[in-house]
Amino acid sequence: MKLKTVRLPKSRRHQPMSARFAHNGHLNLSRLPHRLLIDGEWRDSVSGSTFETLNPATGETLARVAEGDREDINRAVAAARRAFERGPWRRLTPSERGRLLWKLADLLEEHTDQFAEIESLDNGKPRAVACVADVPLAVDLFRYMAGWATKIEGNTIPISVSGADFFAYTRREPVGVVGQIIPWNFPLLMAAWKLGPALATGCTVVLKPAEQTPLSALRLGELILKAGFPPGVVNIVTGYGETAGAALAQHPDVDKVAFTGSTEVGKLIARAATGNLKKVSLELGGKSPNIVLEDADTDTAIAGAANAVFFNHGQCCCAGSRLYVHKKKFDQVVDGVAAAAKKIKLGPGLSADTEMGPLVSEEQLERVMNYLDLGSREGARAIAGGHRKGNRGYFVEPTVLVNAKPGMKVMEEEIFGPVVCAIPFTDVEEVIPAANKNIYGLAAAVWTRDISKAHRIAHELKAGTVWINCYNVFDAALPFGGYKQSGWGREMGHDVLEMYTETKAVCARL
Ligand code: NAP
Ligand code: MG
Repeated sequence: MKLKTVRLPKSRRHQPMSARFAHNGHLNLSRLPHRLLIDGEWRDSVSGSTFETLNPATGETLARVAEGDREDINRAVAAARRAFERGPWRRLTPSERGRLLWKLADLLEEHTDQFAEIESLDNGKPRAVACVADVPLAVDLFRYMAGWATKIEGNTIPISVSGADFFAYTRREPVGVVGQIIPWNFPLLMAAWKLGPALATGCTVVLKPAEQTPLSALRLGELILKAGFPPGVVNIVTGYGETAGAALAQHPDVDKVAFTGSTEVGKLIARAATGNLKKVSLELGGKSPNIVLEDADTDTAIAGAANAVFFNHGQCCCAGSRLYVHKKKFDQVVDGVAAAAKKIKLGPGLSADTEMGPLVSEEQLERVMNYLDLGSREGARAIAGGHRKGNRGYFVEPTVLVNAKPGMKVMEEEIFGPVVCAIPFTDVEEVIPAANKNIYGLAAAVWTRDISKAHRIAHELKAGTVWINCYNVFDAALPFGGYKQSGWGREMGHDVLEMYTETKAVCARL
């Protein structure tokens, strides 16, 4: 069976790769899309406004992109609605939807270097990390979801109503038009986590990327058109959260909103959704406990604890930012993490030897520096880092804080930077309630050689993910999401399909 590909007018067709790289081999940013993707076309915003996206390693402008707001969201939602109700999308078979997703994954994989460079420039992360983490994880997610497109099944249900024969069954139908609002920490990967399940289930989408990092989503939009998704199935509106994001969350013709970002904004989204009681899924903040037991392998735990908090510069919702270490091992492990922190090479993401780039923005830099200041005033002490690095770009030294006590803001609140609080504990009965005593419940980890103890602790921790002797292991097949104020629902795995489908019960009297 042949997939229908959408033939775009010449002016809008995908440009050849070569034109996107300047003579020095680097990305030619002016060749990247910078307008809104609505109904299969690249359009300026209705207001004509644009905004800058910056290179966080220098603070310089990388590009200007269209500033969409309410009117653009209205147009994008109308396009998504048409595509959902009347367009060719609705008539595609599950297999055809799956093949489009697989095609998108192939295209993305072919452009791994380009996307890694875009992520590095726009977000600050090392290009090498984006090459082995962000881009391949996004590719895997699209492939995993491509497989699900043909496996979204209902049940046949024996019912007990007497006096007649019935045939009853359920169907899993796409929820409809979905608004998706994503953050800046993994711009491409978060777009993939959102788009993959929506497209596998047959929904249509309006995606709003974060204002700090709009470029990879726009480039992905070009690949979405190239893969052959019909017009209006994926619409991408760059703009600000308070305008474009809020308009999407409130929109009366959006059936579901999916959000990743801060708990504070997550609550605004939930409130905005009450107008038409649209479905809501939220993937929010965390303050994840990372617990090292007395019998853990010391070197593995040190490397794991450093990775837990310093990966992506600590700008991970699941960052292991509270490090609980058994008192007999405390000095050894915490000194080891501090030594690892001091060795991390900070620099621009495009430099080959960079291990940690800048934070994403000046605002994020200020936020993290405020917490460091607050921590020292509250009595915590930095045994590694604790300062901004240089005065160009938004670099912060990887930091290890000791003497942090429950109740201190650095212990309770999400810092979202490369800062870990290390806390000693005496026994497991003490550390589990301490680990659980937080408003968040996204992730947790335990390091031990005692496998039954590890599982017992895993069952006690109030967290959506518990890692044992590892950290930051993500897979498209593993559900991810939070207990408590870390959110509603799960991303990835087959769990996410429930967030994008409605169950219809059909009951026939025979
Ligand atoms: P944020 O404000 O929650 O932003 C996430 C997304 O929501 C962005 O696309 C944002 O647009 C949008 N948004 C903001 N206000 C909105 C509103 N009223 N209605 C609808 N959408 C809205 O996060 P942030 O300000 O970038 O970062 C602040 C803190 O959030 C961080 O320091 C960190 O603690 C936390 N955070 C968590 C995650 C996570 O993965 N859980 C990710 C990022 C940040 P704009 O881009 O225009 O703001
Ligand atoms: Mg940027």
